[in-house]
Amino acid sequence: MVRNVHNVIKSVDAAGPLGRRVRPGEALLSVNGKLIRDVLDYKFYSYDRDLLLELRTPEGKIRLVRVRKAEGQDLGLDFETYLMDRPRACANRCVFCFIDQNPPGMRKSIYFKDDDARLSFLMGCYITLTNLTEREIERIIALRVSPVNISVHATDGALRRKLLGNPRAGEALDVMRRFAAAGITMNCQIVCCPGLNDGQALERTMEDLKALHPAVRSVSVVPVGLTCHRAGLPELTPFTRERASEVVRAVTQFGNKCAAELGTRLVFCSDELYQLAQIELPPDDFYEEHVQLENGVGMLRLLEAEFDSALRYATAPDGVPFSIATGAAAAPMLEKLLFSAKKKYDTLNGKVIAVPNDFFGRSVTVAGLVTGGDLIAALRGRDLGARVLISADMLRREEVDFLDSVPLRAASEALGVPIYPIENDGGALCDAMFGILPEIPQPAADAEETEYNKYN
Ligand code: SF4
Repeated sequence: MVRNVHNVIKSVDAAGPLGRRVRPGEALLSVNGKLIRDVLDYKFYSYDRDLLLELRTPEGKIRLVRVRKAEGQDLGLDFETYLMDRPRACANRCVFCFIDQNPPGMRKSIYFKDDDARLSFLMGCYITLTNLTEREIERIIALRVSPVNISVHATDGALRRKLLGNPRAGEALDVMRRFAAAGITMNCQIVCCPGLNDGQALERTMEDLKALHPAVRSVSVVPVGLTCHRAGLPELTPFTRERASEVVRAVTQFGNKCAAELGTRLVFCSDELYQLAQIELPPDDFYEEHVQLENGVGMLRLLEAEFDSALRYATAPDGVPFSIATGAAAAPMLEKLLFSAKKKYDTLNGKVIAVPNDFFGRSVTVAGLVTGGDLIAALRGRDLGARVLISADMLRREEVDFLDSVPLRAASEALGVPIYPIENDGGALCDAMFGILPEIPQPAADAEETEYNKYN
């Protein structure tokens, strides 16, 4: 018999409700008679107060453990894998897939295409619904998994099939209607490709999603990202200023209509679309609850609002010179924030450096895709002051290295200054400018070995 290793317990919180009654190495088979197939089952079925756990010991014996705890209290179990199952790979061939546009030679995990409903629920990842079986759809409904984040792109079946390269892609709207009827909340994303799903197609998509409000709680429209590694991939048209302006105008008008009819704008363009259109970003309160921050919607205005509020309470800076390195997209906003801080304290001694992206191509401007190699190339030989501040989004967290596997420590050594990753928060940025610095993260002792050898 092949055993599932994913439900094997790695550690037990001795201070939790199970104390020492469960041991690492045992496998959790069921809770109150319900089979545990993955982390969703585990979270859902372990919610109640009185539980009967069925465990299999490493020797193969089955034993039962009763536990009483507070409703909703975590059992304190850690499993061999986070999902308690294999991650689900996507079944699509999206014409705009960013993963296909990575250069070769990066670590294997970068090329993994996940499309996993469990990650949508647990981590907010977006899914396409194309690899869900009927049983899984029913389980999402039965477990009331909510919200579900969905990459919609288009609601016209034929167009969605073409965009996603999957004959099943046209069924998404029906599934979404079932979720809506079951009271499941959905956040949606549209990757907009000029000439494919903008114009009338975008109007139709927005109308169809509006019809599902309030189950559909928010929709973001983000521009297709095109790197310089597209050899052999479908030809796509990049956004021009005019085309981006048309999309921003259409979404704004639609949002006005929704605001009047529904009390929410519902559909929002990402900051990047405004930048491509060279249209000023709307004020912070335009973004309502900021539901779509992960898609870069309202991020810059929120950063500004947080920064302004922190600046009111800031005391004199430490006067130590510093640099802020960021992607080209965020550089103007950071310059504006630095300027306003300098107006308050002229002893503040910092500058902003925009890092061109040569790894993915110059049209990629977001800070989160700046690599260690590009950072070093842009900063080497410049007067950086005594420290460099970067966005923490540039790092892959567990290993504390950049997307190209350059460790933070190595970049710091190459530049001869400490580099401080700053969380995406205006207050944290203001603090760092004034000399209140976070700890520099260190890689975990068991972090994956990197293939890095280029800069040390
Ligand atoms: S769903 Fe599409 S964009 Fe996402 S990983 Fe799969 S192919 Fe790429």
